[in-house]
Amino acid sequence: MTARVIDGKQTAADVIETVKAATADLVSGKATVPGIAVVIVGEDPASQVYVRSKGRKAEECGFHSETYTLPDDTSEADLLAKVEELNADSRIHGILVQLPLPGHIDEGKVIQTIAPEKDVDGFHFLNVGKLGTGETADAFIPCTPAGSMVLIRRALETDDFSGLNAVVVGRSNIVGKPMANLLLAANATVTVSHSRTKDLPGLCRTADILIAAVGRPEMIKGDWVKPGACVIDVGINRIDAPEKGEGKTRLVGDVDYAGAAEFAGSITPVPGGVGPMTIAMLMANTLASACRAAGVEPPKY
Ligand code: NDP
Repeated sequence: MTARVIDGKQTAADVIETVKAATADLVSGKATVPGIAVVIVGEDPASQVYVRSKGRKAEECGFHSETYTLPDDTSEADLLAKVEELNADSRIHGILVQLPLPGHIDEGKVIQTIAPEKDVDGFHFLNVGKLGTGETADAFIPCTPAGSMVLIRRALETDDFSGLNAVVVGRSNIVGKPMANLLLAANATVTVSHSRTKDLPGLCRTADILIAAVGRPEMIKGDWVKPGACVIDVGINRIDAPEKGEGKTRLVGDVDYAGAAEFAGSITPVPGGVGPMTIAMLMANTLASACRAAGVEPPKY
C-alpha cells in the first residue's frame, strides 16, 4: 500500500480562506475587527521568526495585529502588567505570549494571567478543564491538536471515530494530552503512550489513528504502522543532512516517513503536514474569540 499524503499546507490554506471570509463578514457588518496581540520577551531568533510569521498571517486574515517585543530583562511583574493591559483592551480578542520565556519569569503564572476568553493558545486551566470535560463550545483548543483533528477528519471523511483505535505517542500538555481528549470526544478508543510504555511498536500496530508527538527524529518505523492507518506526525526535528552539502540540515518528523508510507492509508509529511495547521488554527481561535465577543457563530473547519 502507498499512503495518501495528507496535505497540511492546502488544508491550512483552506482554513485561512474561511477565516478571511468570516473576518470580512464581521468587519463589513460592523460587528468587530478580530484583534490579536503577540508578546515576546527577548531576542531568541527562532521565536522572533515565529512571532513575525504569526503577525503576517494575522494581517493576511484582516485582523488588527499588535506585537510587543520586550527586552530580555523584563521583570515578571512588568510582563504580567502587559498581559493585564491586553486583557482589558476590547480591541484584542486573542493574546499569545511566545514561549519559552526567560528563566526568571514563571511561565505558568503568565499563562494563568491571560483572560481565559482571550487564551487562544488554550493553555489556561479553564480551557484545559473545559476540553477535559467536553465543554468545548466556548473553550479554546490548543492549536496543534486542533489542527491535527481537522486533518484526521478530512482524511477519514468523518467526524465520528466510533470503533477506531487511536494511539497517541507523547503525553505533553500542549500536544499529547489535548490530542487524546479530542480523539476521545470524537468516539475513538484512545491509548496515550510515553517513554515508560512497554512494547510501543506492538501498541502502535493496534492504531487505526496513530499520532506521533515525541520529538525524536524518525523514531516510529514503518513496521509499527497498522496497514491502512491514518498517521499524523506532529514531530519537527532538525537533523544533519550531509547529502545536501557540508553543514546543511533538514526537517524530519517523529515517523520514518518512507517506511510508514508503505503501510499507512494516509500520512502527514514533515514539513507540510501538521506544522502549517498550527498557525492556521491560531487564526481560527482568534476569529472564534472575536465571533463570541460579537455574539456570532464562529465557522467550523
Ligand atoms: P515534549 O518533549 O513535551 O513531550 C514528548 C513526549 O514524548 C513525552 O510525553 C515523552 O514521554 C514522550 N517520549 C519521549 N521519548 C519517548 C520514547 N522513546 N518512547 C515513547 N515516548 C517518548 O514534546 P511536545 O509534545 O512539545 O512536542 C513533540 C514534538 O512535536 C516535537 O518534535 C515538537 O517539535 C513537535 N511540535 C510540533 C508542533 C507543530 O506545530 N507541528 C507544535 C508543538 C510541538 P515522557 O512524558 O514519559 O517523558
